[in-house]
Amino acid sequence: MGDQSYDFVVVGGGSAGCVLANRLSESGRHRVLLLEAGPRYHPLERVPISYSQFIDNPAVNWCFMSKPEESTGGRPIPVPRGRLLGGSSAINGLVFVRGQALDYDSWAQMGNRGWSYDDVLPIFKRLESYDGGDGELRGRSGPLRLTEAYDRSPLYDAWFAAAEEVGLKRNPDYNGASQEGICRTQTTIHNGWRMSTSRCYIDPARRRANLDIQCDAHVESLLLKEKRCTGLRYRVGNESREAQARCEIVLCAGSINSPQILELSGIGRPEVLGAQGIEVRHALDGVGENLRDHYVPRLRWDITQRGVTFNDRARGLGLAWQILRYALTRRGFLALPSSPILAFLRTRPELEAPDVQLHFIPFAIEHIKKRKLAPEAGMTIAMCQLRPESKGSIHITDPQPMTAPEIRFNFLSAALDRETLVAGVRAARRLVEAKAMDAFRGREINPGSKVQSDEEILDYIRGNAQTAYHPVGTCKMGTDEMAVVDPELKVCGIEGLRIADGSIMPTLMSGNTNGPIIMIGEKASDMMLEAWR
Ligand SMILES: Cc1cc2nc3c(=O)[nH]c(=O)nc-3n(C[C@H](O)[C@H](O)[C@H](O)COP(=O)(O)OP(=O)(O)OC[C@H]3O[C@@H](n4cnc5c(N)ncnc54)[C@H](O)[C@@H]3O)c2cc1C
Repeated sequence: MGDQSYDFVVVGGGSAGCVLANRLSESGRHRVLLLEAGPRYHPLERVPISYSQFIDNPAVNWCFMSKPEESTGGRPIPVPRGRLLGGSSAINGLVFVRGQALDYDSWAQMGNRGWSYDDVLPIFKRLESYDGGDGELRGRSGPLRLTEAYDRSPLYDAWFAAAEEVGLKRNPDYNGASQEGICRTQTTIHNGWRMSTSRCYIDPARRRANLDIQCDAHVESLLLKEKRCTGLRYRVGNESREAQARCEIVLCAGSINSPQILELSGIGRPEVLGAQGIEVRHALDGVGENLRDHYVPRLRWDITQRGVTFNDRARGLGLAWQILRYALTRRGFLALPSSPILAFLRTRPELEAPDVQLHFIPFAIEHIKKRKLAPEAGMTIAMCQLRPESKGSIHITDPQPMTAPEIRFNFLSAALDRETLVAGVRAARRLVEAKAMDAFRGREINPGSKVQSDEEILDYIRGNAQTAYHPVGTCKMGTDEMAVVDPELKVCGIEGLRIADGSIMPTLMSGNTNGPIIMIGEKASDMMLEAWR
C-alpha cells in the first residue's frame, strides 16, 4: 500500500461505495482508496440463488439483530447486511426497483435541491442497461445490466389473471412511466449471473493504477482537525493503520455502520456519545435517528396443483435437474431473484400512487428461521407498505468499533403504517381469493383464516413480520435541524466528509433500495468530481 495519502477515501465497498470507487478514479486524475471490511469475494456470490445461503452467513454478512420491541412481539429481528466487496448488492434478492417519481419530488420539496425525479431520472438511465421499456425513460448502455426474471409457470399466469380480476392491470415496465400494476420482476441478473456493484463497477476498474482496494479493512474512526476530516484509522487483522485524504472522505458503510462510524468519531447526539465516554467533536442530533424499513408480513397458502411450486420443482431429482439446467443454460430456480413477480397497488382508490408492494414467491418455506422449503407445496406473498412513517434509531452502546450498534425499529408507531399494513394483508387475500386462483388455492396457512379483525392481523404482524432488509435514513439529507448531510451529501458542519449510501435517504422510497442507492453513489460522484475539477 506504501503512501497512505489519497485524494479520496471511500469507506465501504457496497452498492454505493463501488460506484464511487469507479467514478472517482475513472479520469485517472485522482488517487482513490476503497476500504472494505469484508472479503473480496465469495465463490457462490455470482449465482443468484446464493441470496438464500447468504442471509445468515457471517462470512459475508454482518448478521445484525434488532432490539426486541413491542411492535415485534418481543422478538429480535434479523438485519442482514452484506460484508464483502459489493456489500448488500452481493447478497441481496436481486430485485430492481427505482421507486416512484413522487419519492424524489418529495425529497426536493423538503428542501433537497437537485433530487427531484427530473433531476435523478438521467442518473437512473445512465447507471442501467435494460432492453425493455421506453427508451426515453430507460437506459440502454449503463454498467448495471438488468433483465426480466426468466421463468414461466401456470401459477404465474393465475397470479396475473387474479390481479386483473381485482382490478390490477399488467404493467410492462414498473420502472417506467407508472409503477402501478402486476409485473415480471426486473432483476440485477444477466446471463444467469448476479450483477453486484463489485461485478459491474469494480471489475472494470480493478487494474487502474490510481485505485487501491483494501479488503478486510475495518474503519474504526475518522481523524478530525477541528471541524475538518483529514483521514481515518482502520484495522487490518491486528494492525492499526491510518490513511489521509487530501480532498474528501466519503462514508458508504450503509445505514447501520455509517452512523456508527460517526458516533465512534465523536460526531452525533451529545447524550449518546457522553454515555459511552466519547468526546463530542461535533454535535449533530440527527445521527442514527430517522431509521425506516419495510416491515413485511409473509402470507402463505397451500397449493393444490402439483408441479407448479418450487416445493415440488426443486426437490430430489427436481433439484438435481435444476442444478444441471443452471450449469448448462444458466436458467431455472438457481437463476431467479427472490421474487419473480411483483405488484404495486393502492389500498384506497383516492390515493395518487401505490402504497403497497406484493412480492409473489412460488414456494413456501417451513419456517423463516430454518429457510428450508416446506414439505407441502405452497405459495407466499410478502407484503409491505411502500412509504412507512414510523421512525426508529441506531446508536452505539459501546465505544468498541467491533460491537454492533443497537437497532430499534419502532415499527407500527405511526397510525398510517398500521392501517396500510392491515389493508395490504386484506388486498393480498382478495387477490388469492379471486376465481383465477381456484385451481391452485389451498388452505391459508399464514396468518390463517381465523385471523380477521384489524387487531388480529396486527397481532400476526407483531409476532411474525420480518423486514424487507431496506433500512435507510439514519444520516438523513436535509436542511432542518435533524439533517446529518446537506443536499450535496456533505456532513453538516464538517469539512472534507460526505456520506453516500442508504443512510442519506430522508424517507424510504417506494420499493427495493439497491437501485436507488446505486443512483445515490452516481450522483455523489458527480458532485465530488465537480467540486474538485
Ligand atoms: C438479504 C438482503 C436482501 C435484499 N434484497 C434486495 C433486493 O432484492 N432488491 C433491492 O433493491 N434491495 C435489496 N436489498 C437492499 C439493498 O441491497 C441495500 O439497501 C443496498 O445494497 C445498501 O447499499 P449501501 O451502499 O447503503 O450499503 P451496503 O451495500 O450494505 O454497503 C456497505 C458496505 O460497507 C462495508 N462496511 C460497513 N462498515 C464498515 C467499516 N467500519 N469499515 C469498512 N467497511 C465497512 C460493508 O461491509 C459493506 O460492504 C437487500 C438487502 C439484503 C441484506
